[in-house]
Amino acid sequence: MSTTNGQWRGVIEEYRDLLELPEGLAAVTLREGGTPLVHSEWLTGLTGGEVWLKVEANNPTGSFKDRGMTAAISVARHEGAEAVVCASTGNTSASMAAYAAKAGLKPLVLIPEGKIAAGKMAQAVVHGAQIIMVRGNFDHCLDIARGLARDYPVALVNSVNPVRLQGQKTASFEVVDFLGDAPDFHLLPVGNAGNIAAYWLGYQQYAELGRATRRPVMRGFQAEGAAPLVTGEPFPDPETKATAIRVGNPASWHLAEMAAKESEGRFAAVSDEQILAAQVELARHDGVFVEPASAAGVAGLLAELSAGESYAGRTVVITVTGHGLKDTATALETFTDIVDTVVDADVAAAAAAAGLA
Ligand SMILES: *Cc1c(COP(=O)(O)O)cnc(C)c1O
Repeated sequence: MSTTNGQWRGVIEEYRDLLELPEGLAAVTLREGGTPLVHSEWLTGLTGGEVWLKVEANNPTGSFKDRGMTAAISVARHEGAEAVVCASTGNTSASMAAYAAKAGLKPLVLIPEGKIAAGKMAQAVVHGAQIIMVRGNFDHCLDIARGLARDYPVALVNSVNPVRLQGQKTASFEVVDFLGDAPDFHLLPVGNAGNIAAYWLGYQQYAELGRATRRPVMRGFQAEGAAPLVTGEPFPDPETKATAIRVGNPASWHLAEMAAKESEGRFAAVSDEQILAAQVELARHDGVFVEPASAAGVAGLLAELSAGESYAGRTVVITVTGHGLKDTATALETFTDIVDTVVDADVAAAAAAAGLA
């Protein structure tokens, strides 16, 4: 009965039987999911294992948030909501605004003061979201979003809404469907911790169904300035250039700890310098340009290798969570000279400048 001529249908239609969603739910979809696992020759060479990148930039709004948003917005519309609200470090609002537009719902965004990457802000604004900037950090915004959803007729679509995780867990289904089994290790950036919880849900479900023979060890990486899962204490003033993981008190703290514990995994912190260096190296070795937060898993792998950890002979999946074009200002900060040389409009001059002549 597919009318899509083989086109990927979006995560609800592709995996409906495996998702806890209302019976007969009509999907609000932009054909999210179905993202590539890109083989990293670079990290495979460094580790002596097999390293794959789950490239979530290839979602409709450029981050993995779309997987959960198709579910949350579909349910909000199903339940008769007229408006939807989220607290956001940027990508949740970009995704919510797009899916709300598709569904005809009014999107309301709460962002922390002065901390949103321009690309993400542009997405929310152009899709028609009403933007409210809060004098406070992400955690304050989430408190307000929860309060609005409690006291007013708006649906909360942050990942504290369990429906989001139902959509997000499809990323692990895709990994197993592609590799034929679960990897040995799964590494990813962790901020509000919904994603690591969702991946673990998905891997467990596939193992229980017999679609995977094992479950991966989950390793989550946070920025040093926002590493509550590493220290065990909330960060009242989280600070990092990796704004998508600038969260001091993760909403899915408990679920994330369970994922690490049950998988015999762990959390570790990486510095902003390590994150930004990994971002550039990934772009130059593998041709994959990600936003700073998205490079935290790669930075984590590199730090572990330096510390003597071995991934030899193991299959490793690293989720790179969002697109580099969302935050070009931070990406370019480390480059002092963007233009190498200026020449006249002349082949010989260009050849000389390029060192060809
Ligand atoms: C949201 C986000 C994260 C953090 O995911 P959590 O589920 O909050 O842990 C990491 N990277 C990017 C690009 C994101 O948008």
